Amino acid sequence: MIKVILFDLDGTLYNSREVRTKFAEAAYHALAKLKKIPVPEAKKLIEDMREKLKEKNGFPVPYTLTLIRFGMTVENWHKENIEYFDPREFLSADGNLRKMLQGMKKRFKLAILTNNNEVQANRILQALNVQDLFDRVFTYNSFRTMKPNPKTFREAAKAMDVLPKECLVVGDRYSVDLIPAQDLGMKIYEVKGPEGIERLVTALRSVA
Ligand SMILES: [Mg+2]
Repeated sequence: MIKVILFDLDGTLYNSREVRTKFAEAAYHALAKLKKIPVPEAKKLIEDMREKLKEKNGFPVPYTLTLIRFGMTVENWHKENIEYFDPREFLSADGNLRKMLQGMKKRFKLAILTNNNEVQANRILQALNVQDLFDRVFTYNSFRTMKPNPKTFREAAKAMDVLPKECLVVGDRYSVDLIPAQDLGMKIYEVKGPEGIERLVTALRSVA
């Protein structure tokens, strides 16, 4: 029986080319600053490394995990990222998403489980006007671990006071958001943005 739905944030509750672009640019700028090199050089280093890691792992590796490879701390990256851009400039309230979440909230506890940091996650939820609909917002800052590390999912279930099998995880990156959750016995649902949430609402109607 599902008691809790854990939603990924970026690429799951919203889809924004501008935010994706800014996020990548922030990574290039952060590495350029750390290594004291020009931004285009940093960009090349990062994208080459992402390509290499993708080949090795078989799935696209998040920017955060790529930056760590260059010796950047997560804390430093988040600080640079928060200073570099404000997602509220690119996002707006999503009434349809709000309505769908309100409907789900009647039957399940809802939480966010994102690798993003607390400041950016809250800015995004505020911009989408859904920040009041989640019982908890778990970010990198909550457990200092990141998906796909299974510890992230275990800690979230524990904090929600439910068993892994009572959780449904909704996310856009199969290897990062969903496979480790499934391995723990959680239920999973893949979406590629808010349109997918609409399908989820229908799917949940047939679930006890
Ligand atoms: Mg995502």
